[in-house]
Amino acid sequence: MSRVRLGVPYFLRTRSIDHFRRDLEDIVGVGATYLVLIVTDFDLLFFRDTLYDMVQEAKGAGLEVQLDPWGLGGVICTPYSVFPAAHPEACQVASDGSPVGRGCPTHPTLLAFIERWVDAAAALGADAVFWDEPQLGVWEQGETVVRWSCRCPQCRQAFSARYGMPMPTELTDEVIQFRQDAIAHLLQTAMRRAKGHGLENSVCLLPREHPRYGFGNWEHIAGLPELDSFGTDPYWTASPGHDPAKLAEFDAYIRRFADKVMGLAGTAGKRPHMWVLGFRIAKGTEGDMERAARVVWDAGIRDLAIWADKYGCGDNNRSGDPEAVWRTVARIFRSWRVQAGSSGP
Ligand SMILES: [Zn+2]
Repeated sequence: MSRVRLGVPYFLRTRSIDHFRRDLEDIVGVGATYLVLIVTDFDLLFFRDTLYDMVQEAKGAGLEVQLDPWGLGGVICTPYSVFPAAHPEACQVASDGSPVGRGCPTHPTLLAFIERWVDAAAALGADAVFWDEPQLGVWEQGETVVRWSCRCPQCRQAFSARYGMPMPTELTDEVIQFRQDAIAHLLQTAMRRAKGHGLENSVCLLPREHPRYGFGNWEHIAGLPELDSFGTDPYWTASPGHDPAKLAEFDAYIRRFADKVMGLAGTAGKRPHMWVLGFRIAKGTEGDMERAARVVWDAGIRDLAIWADKYGCGDNNRSGDPEAVWRTVARIFRSWRVQAGSSGP
C-alpha cells in the first residue's frame, strides 16, 4: 500500500492549548498527516513552553510536526523578524545605500542567530524544519530591478576578496552568483545544525526561477546532503474559470513545476513535495484547488501540502469562503488517500 503525506500549516491563530486541541481534531479530521507549525523568532522569545506543548499535542494526535521559521532573520518567507531590533549592525544594506531591516546572509551574527533558533526548535521535540521560501531583497518596477540587497560592508568585503574588484551597485552576474551562494550557505549551515539534532529538513523554493530572486540553480539546493524533502509552491493569481485555453495554461503551469520537483528530487534522492494554494481563493473557485492537486498527483508526487487559510494565515490573505476552502482540503485529502489505497488516518 503506497503512502501519502498530506500537510497543512498552522499560523498564529492561537497559543491557547485548549483551543489548539480542538483545532487539531479538525485538522486530523480532514485527513492531514503532518502539521507545518509556524514558529517565529518572536514566538521563541515569548511562547517557548506553549510551543513545546503544542508540538507534543500535535504528535500525540498522530501528526508529524514540521516547524516553519517564518520570518526568521528576515530571510525566510517574510521580512518580519525581531532580528533587526537586536542586531542592527548585522542587517542588510541595499544597493543604493539605504538600510534594510533584514539580517545579512553573509553576516556571522545572522548565522549564529539562525543556529540558536534551530537549537530551540529541536528542544520543542518536532520532527523536521520546513525552510519556507528562503529569499533575498530585490525591488522592481515592472521587469526592472531598481535596487537589491545585500551590499553591506561585510558583503562588499567578502565580494572583493572573492572577485578581486569592488562590489558593483548593479546586479551583475557576479553579484547574482555571490547572493545565491550566500543564501545557499546560510541554508546549508542551518540544515546541518538541524541534522545534528536529528531533525529532518524540508525546503520549499519560490516558483521564481530567475537567479536574481535567490536561486537560479535549483539543482544545487535539491542536492544539499542535509536536505530530505524538496518542493515548490506554484500558487496562481487568478482562477482559470471555464475558459479551455486558461484551463490548459493553468494545468501546464502546475505540471511544469511538479515535473521539475520530481526530476530534481529523484536525481538527488530526496522526497518531492508540492504546495497547493488554499488562501485568497475567490468564493466559488475552490474547484481550482482540486484541479491543481490532480495535476500534482498525475505528476507522481505523493506529498501534498495545502496552505489553507482557516488555520494557515492572517486576515490579509483570507479567502472569500474559508470554510468552503477547508471542505475542499478535506475532499482532496480523502481522494488522495483513496487513490493511495489508504482510506483511514
Ligand atoms: Zn550584507
